[in-house]
Amino acid sequence: MSITFVPTPPVPPLDASVDHAIQAIVAGASTDETCATDLAVGPWDFDTRPGYGPGSSMGDVIPTGAPRQGELPREYREAGEDELDERIRAAKETLGDRVVVLGHFYQREEVVRHADYVGDSFQLATAAKGRTDAEAIVFCGVHFMAETADLLSGPDQAVVLPNLAAGCSMADMADIDQVEDCWEQLAEVLGDLDAQDADGRVPVIPVTYMNSSAAIKGFVGRHGGIVCTSSNAETVLEWAFERGRRVLFFPDQHLGRNTARAMGVPLERMPMWNPRRALGGSTAAELEDSRVILWHGFCSVHRRFTVAQIDQARAEHPGVRVIVHPECPMEVVDAADEAGSTDYIRRAIAAVEEPTTFAVGTEINLVRRLAAQFPQHEIFCLDPVVCPCSTMYRIHPGYLAWVLEELVAGRTPNRISVSDDVAAPARVALERMLATKPRVAASAR
Ligand code: SF4
Repeated sequence: MSITFVPTPPVPPLDASVDHAIQAIVAGASTDETCATDLAVGPWDFDTRPGYGPGSSMGDVIPTGAPRQGELPREYREAGEDELDERIRAAKETLGDRVVVLGHFYQREEVVRHADYVGDSFQLATAAKGRTDAEAIVFCGVHFMAETADLLSGPDQAVVLPNLAAGCSMADMADIDQVEDCWEQLAEVLGDLDAQDADGRVPVIPVTYMNSSAAIKGFVGRHGGIVCTSSNAETVLEWAFERGRRVLFFPDQHLGRNTARAMGVPLERMPMWNPRRALGGSTAAELEDSRVILWHGFCSVHRRFTVAQIDQARAEHPGVRVIVHPECPMEVVDAADEAGSTDYIRRAIAAVEEPTTFAVGTEINLVRRLAAQFPQHEIFCLDPVVCPCSTMYRIHPGYLAWVLEELVAGRTPNRISVSDDVAAPARVALERMLATKPRVAASAR
């Protein structure tokens, strides 16, 4: 039997812009769905109101006193995409090496295209550290990332967050007062938290995910603890178990649970700490028997992924390779083929030459960009609803144009500075992490 090969019609290049996808949905030009049609308007419409704004975190409770962004001048609010693009390019050219622009993987395409470095939060902070020539570091990401860049950059370098309302709902779920209170309650149950046993281990080592405030990193540094990322969480937990009988892990329960379970820690030895309940909602006996105490935090982007979505992807795309981020719930990680950090996902796809279908469980801006970068593969987001991270989405090109033109004019808007009393112990916690394992660098563009 002879086989006739029918040429595949050329696939039109994917428009990686999530903004364009949302505009098309709102205009009725696309049958896709979005979680919030409000995403089609500029974020300045939400900056003066409390809340995380439209997108994945819109149902999360924002802490009182969370930073708000002042009004963006009208000329930036009314400028079109092409004008903003041109103004950003011109300002960057004028500033030259005096400024470095960092773009997180989850930023919108219209912002990332202007970034000098693209990566995850820690890759970007270390990239900034290497640019000692830059007077200003414009961090297109969220608040805790800009704080980390400030911790790692020189004292004369200004870290600028284009929109102060770009927080992170997960980082906000571990408030320093709540964590201090938790520590006191643990001391009542576990005794002197500095006392070492015969093996030299203390009762509990605090471990914080990079996605936490500088105040939390400082707390961890003061109490013999360490920072981790989604790439090195297992190595960091091994470090902590060598020094403590148990770990207090915050703010992301899912990363903590997924990592500890992969290391063999049984679920019944991972009680949850809900800061609104006495003893976090656990009994003293449960805390005494614990190996990992999980803070009751989560990422609203990664919590959207479900086992039903994976089942549907497998039914509709036989042979699909499902990769999810470890901030996803445990049952989703179990149902996927593999789980890893944003950098892992990117490298896993880049390593495959054979045309492959990938269903990816992470933020949609990254997924759409990967789909555009690797057109030989079919790459789609596990969540069929277009729902970007609410806070990453607050960095609109209008804000980037504004901060860059302010820098050109000799002013430094939206500077993020960590006070010295917090910075010193926070750096200790970061340095402990750096000593555990080398990291993959952010890619320069
Ligand atoms: S994706 Fe999740 S963890 Fe990352 S900034 Fe958004 S809410 Fe925070």
